[in-house]
Amino acid sequence: MATMTLEQEINPWEAQAARFDFAARKLNLDEGLWKVLRYPSREIIVHFPIMMDDGRVEVFTGFRVQHSIARGPSKGGIRYSPDVTLDEIRALASWMTWKCAVVNIPFGGAKGGVICDPKKMSQGELERMTRRYTSELIEFLGPEKDVPAPDMNTNEQTMAWIMDTYSMHMRQTVTSVVTGKPLSIGGSRGRREATGRGIGVVCDEALKYLHLPREGCRVIIQGFGNVGSNAAKLMAEKGYKIVGIAEYDGGLYNPHGIDIGMLMEYRRSNASVVGFKGAEPFDSPELVIAECDIFIPAATENVITSRNADRIKARIVCEGANGPTTAVADDILADKEIFVIPDILANAGGVTASYFEWVQDRQGYFWKEALINEQLESILVESFDDVVRYSVAHGVNNRIAAYMLAIDRVASTIKQRGIYA
Ligand code: NAD
Repeated sequence: MATMTLEQEINPWEAQAARFDFAARKLNLDEGLWKVLRYPSREIIVHFPIMMDDGRVEVFTGFRVQHSIARGPSKGGIRYSPDVTLDEIRALASWMTWKCAVVNIPFGGAKGGVICDPKKMSQGELERMTRRYTSELIEFLGPEKDVPAPDMNTNEQTMAWIMDTYSMHMRQTVTSVVTGKPLSIGGSRGRREATGRGIGVVCDEALKYLHLPREGCRVIIQGFGNVGSNAAKLMAEKGYKIVGIAEYDGGLYNPHGIDIGMLMEYRRSNASVVGFKGAEPFDSPELVIAECDIFIPAATENVITSRNADRIKARIVCEGANGPTTAVADDILADKEIFVIPDILANAGGVTASYFEWVQDRQGYFWKEALINEQLESILVESFDDVVRYSVAHGVNNRIAAYMLAIDRVASTIKQRGIYA
């Protein structure tokens, strides 16, 4: 791996495949199952036209990759970004399979994306794009087939449009076709905060495991979107000290702790964290390597690479984002004895609450928020224990342990079902 170019190192598909191969080898995985699980079962590419506000017709490219349906319908977010690639969506779809298996919920993995720049599009254009993308995929989606959710630059409104478009085609309201919807149309209480809440839970468990105190524990978070801001808010409420926030247009640092409630309000009215008076401005990339106890990358992929991993000072890295650490950087962090809570465990609170939403939609009965948060916490505590126990038993780091646990669960399901060939 040392001879890899940076371009190879940061290819998310390569990053996923490197960990998969390593974990599969450790498990002595049967060669046939290895081939089945290494590649996605279906990759859909669509090019579709949209009428822009100025009357022009623009053609967009979208992807949906379904990695596995062995344990249940495939599940995974949809992202809108100019940087979306098929390799990225492939990797994210596989990660969803492993994530659902780590927390032992009955879903396989999928992911979708559209190459677009949502910051430059009107609400009307986004709605038309979302509806047409959904209709292009119509026969591949469904509560028993493939259930999307929000991801980068998509939100509750996007999910409402998908649900409505799907329902129009089915001639009936089908709320369980997507999760992360608004509460009024079958969304779940607690879903919006669930990924951030889960991050707080696994950080608590890591501190207990390492015999470190929570009170005053210094945290730096990269990304103040859905995941980062909710993790910051809920962790600050528990006694963590959020000392740094890194956003794409600038960072903030306050050694005494940033008032997260005030920052959320500031961000809502200014569309940026830059200029917030409750902290000093700080160079964003420098915050990744600044002094703290826990670093939470909660923005995007490839944040910790061979270029900066040796300068990370945190004792714990808790991966809110998917794929923030490259496989090469994994080895460097391991040498430094940094305790990594891997993405497929750390950010699994989101898909766990999505599972609760899907169950509630199908039951037509909606749970109280306290029950959702309690069930979420119990699943994440158990999954954290499973991963750490696997890591100790097999002498591997937490990430490889999480992959091994997940691959083992998916492989035994496939063995039980048998190969229809
Ligand atoms: P989001 O769009 O709500 O927030 C992302 C935030 O990161 C934005 O505020 C953006 O400005 C910031 N950002 C982007 N690039 C950055 C950079 N280079 N440096 C600093 N900040 C940057 O997205 P989200 O839903 O919070 O998702 C963030 C990550 O978490 C993604 O990797 C996503 O796949 C993962 N994730 C999300 C969920 C969920 O429930 N939303 C669940 C599991 C995993």
